[in-house]
Amino acid sequence: MELLDGKATAKRYRESIKEEVQVMAERGERPPHLVAVLVGNDPASDTYVQNKVRACEKVGIQSTKLQYTSDMLESDLLEKIDELNHDDTVDGFIVQLPLPLHINKYKVIERIDFRKDVDGFHPINIGRMAKDMPAFLPATPNGILKLLEHYQIPTKGKHCVVVGRSDIVGKPISMLMGRWGYPGDCTVTLTHKYTEGLASYTRQADILITAVGQPSLITGDMLKNGAVGVDVGITRVNDETRERGYVLKGDIDYEQGKERCSYLTPVPGGVGPMTIASLLQNTLLAAKGEVFHEDH
Ligand code: NDP
Repeated sequence: MELLDGKATAKRYRESIKEEVQVMAERGERPPHLVAVLVGNDPASDTYVQNKVRACEKVGIQSTKLQYTSDMLESDLLEKIDELNHDDTVDGFIVQLPLPLHINKYKVIERIDFRKDVDGFHPINIGRMAKDMPAFLPATPNGILKLLEHYQIPTKGKHCVVVGRSDIVGKPISMLMGRWGYPGDCTVTLTHKYTEGLASYTRQADILITAVGQPSLITGDMLKNGAVGVDVGITRVNDETRERGYVLKGDIDYEQGKERCSYLTPVPGGVGPMTIASLLQNTLLAAKGEVFHEDH
């Protein structure tokens, strides 16, 4: 079994992003600028935003964190988005999800100018992605594509089974794996909570992508010999033997998966670092105005 080492691969991507940012500086251009908007004080969201901000700093991308209290009015958030849409010093911005319940996330996402939507969540970006047009791709699916590409995993004609159909991972990656070209050209099966006989599908998978959040949902007997396993799931599992009191687990039982798979992502250190690298790349592309230049 060979490891799909997201940590090492993401490092290489970050280095090339850093070089491009340096070239921009040498040309006298300002660095790319990402703004992260955080509403409320959910500790997990806070950590995610912190990681994104730190990753920006490491490659020379300017980042600003805007934090608001959980009682922020929806209208105030929409106003802030309008402001960011029109701010020429901001290349891209993200609104960290989940939002407090009184705020309609669809309204918020739709308000973002799709040319600054570096998370790739805006319906225009998703529609453009579905039509194979230039678009900001959502970070996690894009990170998966880059990882498969880096390891030159053959995809043409392969059966890719995706477990989980969320808007941010399962649904978009199933579309992307079925697109024309590389990585893509797969025959795709999208499964979810109501799929009957999940194992009968996963056992057919040449490439299995899981995005559920249930540790060891996929056991060794559910994997085809030689499968490529891409495990997006990250769940904290209590572990008293660890200083921090927990370990992070993926959806695929790692020990059993190792015996069956030809390639497998570790958790952590697989898809996670690739997700952040993809966000940095989208921010760089936004600053260079390279995604939509053909048609705008
Ligand atoms: P969601 O909770 O939005 O979606 C989970 C999906 O899993 C749903 O589509 C659900 O089906 C499906 N599901 C639930 N139970 C089963 C089951 N028994 N069999 C098959 N499918 C099932 O999660 P996300 O996509 O946001 O995240 C999934 C996991 O990935 C989480 O652990 C999250 O932390 C992690 N994650 C990791 C990232 C990274 O960068 N590494 C980025 C994003 C997420 P249904 O639709 O029918 O309810």
